[in-house]
Amino acid sequence: MRVHHLDCGPMIGGLVDHCLLLETEHRLILVDTGFGTDDVTVPARRLGAARHLLRLRIDHDTTARAQVERLGYRAADVSDIVLTHLDFDHAGGLTDFPDARIHVHGPELRAALAPHRRERPRYRPVQWAHGPRWVVNEAGGSDTWLGLDAVRELPGLGDDILVVPLYGHTRGHVGVAVNTPTGWLLHAGDAFLNRRDLDSAVRRVAMSAYGDPSPRAALTRWHNTRALADLARRDPRLTVFSSHDPVMLTTLRERAAGSGIREM
Ligand SMILES: [Zn+2]
Repeated sequence: MRVHHLDCGPMIGGLVDHCLLLETEHRLILVDTGFGTDDVTVPARRLGAARHLLRLRIDHDTTARAQVERLGYRAADVSDIVLTHLDFDHAGGLTDFPDARIHVHGPELRAALAPHRRERPRYRPVQWAHGPRWVVNEAGGSDTWLGLDAVRELPGLGDDILVVPLYGHTRGHVGVAVNTPTGWLLHAGDAFLNRRDLDSAVRRVAMSAYGDPSPRAALTRWHNTRALADLARRDPRLTVFSSHDPVMLTTLRERAAGSGIREM
C-alpha cells in the first residue's frame, strides 16, 4: 500500500484539511474528501456563511480530485471513499467522485440526513444532492482494534482499513485506521484538534468544546481523546493524527518520503 497525505482545504490560521489517498493493489481509496470543485466555484451556495468564518484558501488545485489527477489517475479511478464524518469541510469532494462507493458510519449518515436543529449548520445537503453510492457501516459487533471498539471488513476493502467509532464531535464521527508497511495510521478526523491535545488531553480537550453538539458529546470526545493518547503512548508503531493539524501533516509527509512510501 502507498499512502499519500493530501491537504484538501487550507484554512484559517494555517490549518489544513488532511485527507489520505491510499493506493492498494486493486483499489484507489480516499479517506475524507475536504473541499471539492463545486465548493470552489459556487462557495456561497455550497458552504453558506461558514466560508467566511474559516477564511478558506481553497482553489481548484487543492481539491482531492486535482491532486488525484496530478498523480496520474482519473477521478473515476477512485473506487472507494471512507469518511470520518459528514461536516462540510470533509464531504465537499464527494461530488467530484460520483462513481465511488462512500463508506459512511450509520449514525453519521442518519444525523446528516435528518439533523437536529443544532446540527443543521454543520451539514450541507447540497454536497450530497447528487446521490452518492452510500455503503453504510454500523457499530455494535464484537470487533475491536488495539482494544477499542471497531468496525472491520468494510465491504471490498479487506483487513487493512477499518473504522473506529469516536463519537462526540458529531453523532456518528469515526476514526479510520489504516495498516501501512510502517505500522498503523489512525486518521482521527476531528476527534481532537491538534497533537497537543494528545499530550495533555485532560486539560486542553476539556477546555475546548470543539464543535461538540452538546456537553455530553464533549465528554464523550474527551474520553475518546484520552483513550487515543494512552494508545499512542503504548504503541510506538501507531500514529494518531487529526484532520486540521498542519504540523502532523508535515511530519507524516516527511516520514513517508523518508520511508520510501510514496508521498506527494
Ligand atoms: Zn473538520
